[in-house]
Amino acid sequence: MTEFLFWKDPYLKTFKAKIIEIEKNSIILDQTAFYPQSGNQVSDKGYIEKEKKRYEIENVLKEGEKVYHQINAKFVDEFKIGDSIIGNIEWQYRYGIMRAHSSQHLLSAIIKNKFDIDTVHANILFEEVMLQISHEITESQLKECLQELTQISTIENHKFGTYITSKKELSKYGANLRGDIPDEDKIRLVEVPGYDLICCGGTHVKNSTEIGPLFLYEFKKGTDIKYVLGKKALELYSQFNVDLISSSDMLGIQYSNFFPFIHKQYREYNQLELNYIKVASNLLDYISNYPSFQIEDCKIGILEIDLEYRVLQKQFKDFPENYMLMILRPQNKVIIISNCENLKANDVLNDLIQHYGGKGGGSTYSAQGALDIIPEDIASLIKALFK
Ligand SMILES: [Zn+2]
Repeated sequence: MTEFLFWKDPYLKTFKAKIIEIEKNSIILDQTAFYPQSGNQVSDKGYIEKEKKRYEIENVLKEGEKVYHQINAKFVDEFKIGDSIIGNIEWQYRYGIMRAHSSQHLLSAIIKNKFDIDTVHANILFEEVMLQISHEITESQLKECLQELTQISTIENHKFGTYITSKKELSKYGANLRGDIPDEDKIRLVEVPGYDLICCGGTHVKNSTEIGPLFLYEFKKGTDIKYVLGKKALELYSQFNVDLISSSDMLGIQYSNFFPFIHKQYREYNQLELNYIKVASNLLDYISNYPSFQIEDCKIGILEIDLEYRVLQKQFKDFPENYMLMILRPQNKVIIISNCENLKANDVLNDLIQHYGGKGGGSTYSAQGALDIIPEDIASLIKALFK
């Protein structure tokens, strides 16, 4: 059995211990401050010292009340039961995890308290949290939660407390308890009075203001939230703040109007694109009835428009039989779609590449590529090909 020093004092950085067991590549100590991978929190990093020699801890795992400190297999013979060691936690790494874990408890509690929505899954990494909740929330609800969380993580201090209790005792907490109850007799509770109470074996800060600012970088499906904190968040804050000002200056608008402006531009751009597709569609419709030229029974249409393959392919289904459509797009890109038996799309493209350089490929039905130069008289070349 290992005494969990990381529970007694999560701020402990070095400790003395004795080896009580050695199993494969792992040593088991009578007590440890190394947090083992468990629940949703990653394990600690660091090293142990024996007679002034350092041994890197490669992984820390837990089984029941035993903590396994994995070291490189080639050093295992240098240890024996009863040896005294000094353990050293990589503190900046652990502290970044502690702050992330505590921030996750608060965010999950805020979402639960405000909207009665549970956290399904949380992943706690160094200065980073990934959270999944059971029901969708809107952007404005997320904004509300983030604002409250940042208030508690930077200005308004709340204390984190931890207690060991038994499963039997848990019933007295009733509905105040958030989350699942683990199937163990000895239960550890983490509490933020007035905010949150949950069963958790992780390491936490004492004061909520140790968490600091957070920066949200992903919000998907209304349920998946990802954010960073600590140094990672500060870097993003400074970068976005300066970028926001310089981009607003560039556009000649106030920084506070930046996002409404971008949204408006985006809507207008989408409308323009829709209009463009409509016009291009009419052109395609026209050229399907009035091809650029015809060789024997094969109709050939050549158009200079900027449309993607999937849009062209959809409309080509309505083209008459024995038709080859050639689209010239910006940057010398060429798309060929053909249902002509005597004029295969990939043959035409390969011939164009041979004559004018470039790259690309495809099938007898469709081919795409980019030429080094676009020939002025592409029609004569196709006519020559046909012979
Ligand atoms: Zn937790």
